[in-house]
Amino acid sequence: MLVEVASLAGFCFGVERAVESVEKLLAENNAKIYTLGKLIHNPTIVSSFEKQGVEIIEASDIDRVFEQTNKNNPCVIVIRAHGAIKEISDKLTAYAAQNPYFKICDMTCPHVKKIHKIAEQHSKDADLTLIFGNIGHPEVQGICSYVEGDYLVFEKSEDLDYGKMTNKKLLCVSQTTQKLSEWEKSQKNLKKVCTNPFIFDTICSVTENRQEEVDALSKRVDLMLVIGGKDSSNTNKLYEIARKNQPNTFFVEDANDIPDIRLTPHAKVGIAAGASTPGSIIKEVKKKMSVKELTTGENFAELLDASFKTLNTGDTVTGTVLSVTDAEVHVDLGAKVTGIITSNDIIDPMVKLSDLYKVGDTVTAVAVRVSDVDGVATLSRRRIEASEKWESIVAAYNEGTILEGKITEIVRGGAIIILNSVKVFIPASQSGLGKDADLSVLQGTVHKVKIIDINEQRKRAVASIRVVVREEKKAAEAEFWATLEKDKKFTGKVKSLTSYGAFVNLGPVDGMVHLTELSWKRIKNPAEVVSVGDTLDVFVLDFDVEKKRISLGHKTEETNPWTLFTNQYSVGDVAAVKIVSMMPFGAFAEVIPGADGLIHISQIANKKIGKPADVLEIGQVVDAKITEIDEENHKISLSMRALLEEEEEIEVEVVEEAEAVEEDAE
Ligand code: SF4
Repeated sequence: MLVEVASLAGFCFGVERAVESVEKLLAENNAKIYTLGKLIHNPTIVSSFEKQGVEIIEASDIDRVFEQTNKNNPCVIVIRAHGAIKEISDKLTAYAAQNPYFKICDMTCPHVKKIHKIAEQHSKDADLTLIFGNIGHPEVQGICSYVEGDYLVFEKSEDLDYGKMTNKKLLCVSQTTQKLSEWEKSQKNLKKVCTNPFIFDTICSVTENRQEEVDALSKRVDLMLVIGGKDSSNTNKLYEIARKNQPNTFFVEDANDIPDIRLTPHAKVGIAAGASTPGSIIKEVKKKMSVKELTTGENFAELLDASFKTLNTGDTVTGTVLSVTDAEVHVDLGAKVTGIITSNDIIDPMVKLSDLYKVGDTVTAVAVRVSDVDGVATLSRRRIEASEKWESIVAAYNEGTILEGKITEIVRGGAIIILNSVKVFIPASQSGLGKDADLSVLQGTVHKVKIIDINEQRKRAVASIRVVVREEKKAAEAEFWATLEKDKKFTGKVKSLTSYGAFVNLGPVDGMVHLTELSWKRIKNPAEVVSVGDTLDVFVLDFDVEKKRISLGHKTEETNPWTLFTNQYSVGDVAAVKIVSMMPFGAFAEVIPGADGLIHISQIANKKIGKPADVLEIGQVVDAKITEIDEENHKISLSMRALLEEEEEIEVEVVEEAEAVEEDAE
């Protein structure tokens, strides 16, 4: 027995994409997965997903799912390749906007999306929209929901009352998986009665190619097996085509369905499969039938490729954006194939497809892979943009422009920064970090850089953070010196201390407060009054732009103890003073902090004493009279004795008064 498997059997692009997306979601395992209806028309795959926790829901379940969804129960609803009814699609989008844990994974096939767009844009201008398809099929129901105005769904050319179509403005589209011959027949009849019917050939190229292959295959075999789900539209069409040519055609879901038929030893068996049939099932069926395989597959595919190719790899094409998601942009190229730009086309991780493309935009891109079999062309804007972007890097180098970008990778010897979507290398020595610093701290950070070297031929550029930092510092310093003037005030941080003063950081430069300017008190070391890290109010005493030196002052007239003292005290006032030091000729006492006076030894007591320590001790607080203020030399004379004598005088007066009273009494 010879077995020939159709070269186009198995998953089509749209189904493969939907299945892979669910597999990816299952692997991520971070949300409950729902599919809106059965994901594909294949019971084996659907039940395998169900066993892994994927739940099939209907439109009526969406509200319930939305209510159950929260931070602890996130969900993702997968829209299958058939697409969804517009109202449902809008509802899901609105729910996703309200709740970040309610996500949509829209796997509507680009070929189906294209029909939605046609219906949405052109149906309002038509008297009637004709949809060639099965009214019960979810794809057709979705298409109908995008029509504005009257529409009619028909399954066969004969279903149409052509008399009623005369002179009507007609818009005609087809379900993607319909039978090509029937569609062509309907078109022919419509064109006879209607001068200008607006007909869009929307049967998916996958369907077209498979039907033609099955038509040919079924004519040259003795038995045909068509594998697929019983509710799969495209498999049913393949079955109908094969059955017309070969009465020995059987519709099977898997190897178990193969009927027990006797075939002659050299009988030829043809195997075809619908777009939702996984390769494993096709293999199983083939294995069961096969003793020898007849392989015409590749040549046949090549012939098909040659006859259907509408676009070549490397072509620059222009089209209109049909839809935009974070994963893909679908572009109508006005050709058999639909263009797809994937998120892989963007190298800047900060940019999303939706930031760059809007529905209706005109896009020019390069076709990097064309599959007429899938009806899809993978497009790249990057190829076109790459040269524009590279030019911007060269211009930045020539003009010394500062660019800004995000560091996305740490590599051997440096880091990679994305500038205008171009990867540029920053050597470790230009990172602005220290010699042996850990470059991983740069990962994900945004920096200003300058291009310091380029290799035009290899399109490689080298950037530097260090150069920008250095230039910015220089500019800030220049601005600082240009606006510097005496008495200008600053609040700075003490950066370091020396024996003669404190260095204070003023921003781009440092200044120095000399020891004598730090405090009104006599100090021997700056550490007595400030520490590194302290915040200090300072003002400019003097500066030298040439030598880059700034002398700062800290103590001011408002804090001058002599001023404070003279404002508070006059000669004759009595003050509580603290003994701070003693000399043979007297004791120094603090009147207010920073203003000390001398109590001469003769003024400590009202009798002769040997030394001040006979009466006083350090730290003792005593009352003293201010007997003299020497404004010129900032000297204060104090006297305890004056107070003692005054007390004695008062006592003598009291005694004398008492004696006088007594005498009077006698
Ligand atoms: S058959 Fe065509 S339209 Fe349908 S999912 Fe596959 S590629 Fe898309």
